[in-house]
Amino acid sequence: MSPSAILRVGSNLSFDSAKCIGCESCAIVCPRGAIQITKDQGFETISYTFALCLYCRRCSFTCPEDAIKLTAALEPAGFSTSVRVEEKLQIELQICERCGSAFAPRPMVRKIENLIREKRGIDLSSLIVLCPQCRTRILAEGSPGRFGLSQALLSQSQQVAQSHEAKQ
Ligand code: SF4
Ligand code: SF4
Repeated sequence: MSPSAILRVGSNLSFDSAKCIGCESCAIVCPRGAIQITKDQGFETISYTFALCLYCRRCSFTCPEDAIKLTAALEPAGFSTSVRVEEKLQIELQICERCGSAFAPRPMVRKIENLIREKRGIDLSSLIVLCPQCRTRILAEGSPGRFGLSQALLSQSQQVAQSHEAKQ
């Protein structure tokens, strides 16, 4: 019997909870569905199943935060029929301050907010905590002072919001 008949290669995978922003890129690129995302009760759960993993390392190459650690691991081939989940990470979702819906991982929302502030010098802290639907409605109504937007940016955003609403 060849060694490949009795052993299969997978990975010891771990998520770094201090780095992961919950962007879901790892789950999107995984060719085997070994990384799954579920959302429930204000949390996003990222789970990893060894039995499905090919150790292709796409997930770690893709992760923008370097939050995935992978090392090759061997296990008896018979185990590959099992679907046990080896690793789980829970990330809090951002709650919309207007309608109360949970809409995106909180660390990702914070990262986007910080990037916009650093690169564009715009403070969107009170706008980014709204879900996309509420954001669209508020921009269509127009409240520049409250959200710290320049009039030019607000006009642009209103045009986008209005064309979006017109399509619905
Ligand atoms: S190493 Fe490949 S197969 Fe395994 S979890 Fe990452 S992307 Fe999926
Ligand atoms: S790609 Fe990285 S940052 Fe994004 S959800 Fe996966 S582990 Fe977290």
